Amino acid sequence: MRNLPARPPLSPVLASRLTRETKAISEAGDPKVEAEKRYRNARKATWFAPVVRTLGKLAGPGERCMFCSGSESSDVEHYRPKAVFPELAMTWENYLWSCTPCNRGKSNRFPPDTEPGERLINPMEEDVWTFFFIDEFGMLTPRFDPAVDALNRRGVTTRDLLSLNREAVRESRQMRLNDLRQKVQDALKLMRRNELTKAAARQRLETWKQQPWQPDVADFFLQGPGGDKPPFSTFLAAL
Ligand SMILES: [Zn+2]
Repeated sequence: MRNLPARPPLSPVLASRLTRETKAISEAGDPKVEAEKRYRNARKATWFAPVVRTLGKLAGPGERCMFCSGSESSDVEHYRPKAVFPELAMTWENYLWSCTPCNRGKSNRFPPDTEPGERLINPMEEDVWTFFFIDEFGMLTPRFDPAVDALNRRGVTTRDLLSLNREAVRESRQMRLNDLRQKVQDALKLMRRNELTKAAARQRLETWKQQPWQPDVADFFLQGPGGDKPPFSTFLAAL
């Protein structure tokens, strides 16, 4: 999980089409059936393609999953599942971008409406680093919440329900962190020898942020709270 840019509004034409779809769903005899049907049709329709494209672009380079940041994704994910909230099946603000394992794992689950637990963190609407940090092993770890004298509960539910530390993803995070740390150390060495200017170092930083490989790690250590840890802190302060 990582912080994402603000969601842009859709074009007026698309927005009003979605509003019409939503109205039809809410007026149907069985809104759940209607929502499934309308969403399935939309997913195959040309008019809906720009919605999918815009969503993918919001995920950044490589269109990585908004939940695990692990894989290239192609699934429109309903933050509030359409099987439980049919009236939100055709709502732009309810869409996220996710990979198949995350999408399958989440399925129709949405605590506390569907089961005990806390509400899932929405990476498009909340600062994920107030809930999580990434440790040196690449584990996305819920922060300690002094109010409940335990780990942040929304962080725990989100991590567990989406299996955000499944081995392949954790390993990939750890590798990205090691790689990033090495790159930063190399850059610092060159800067000390006056072989890398500040401008060139800043350019490197931008390139690293754009790399489509576990962007959650880059977000946390290069522009999030992880930037207070060496060698990132030394590097960022030198720019
Ligand atoms: Zn995922």
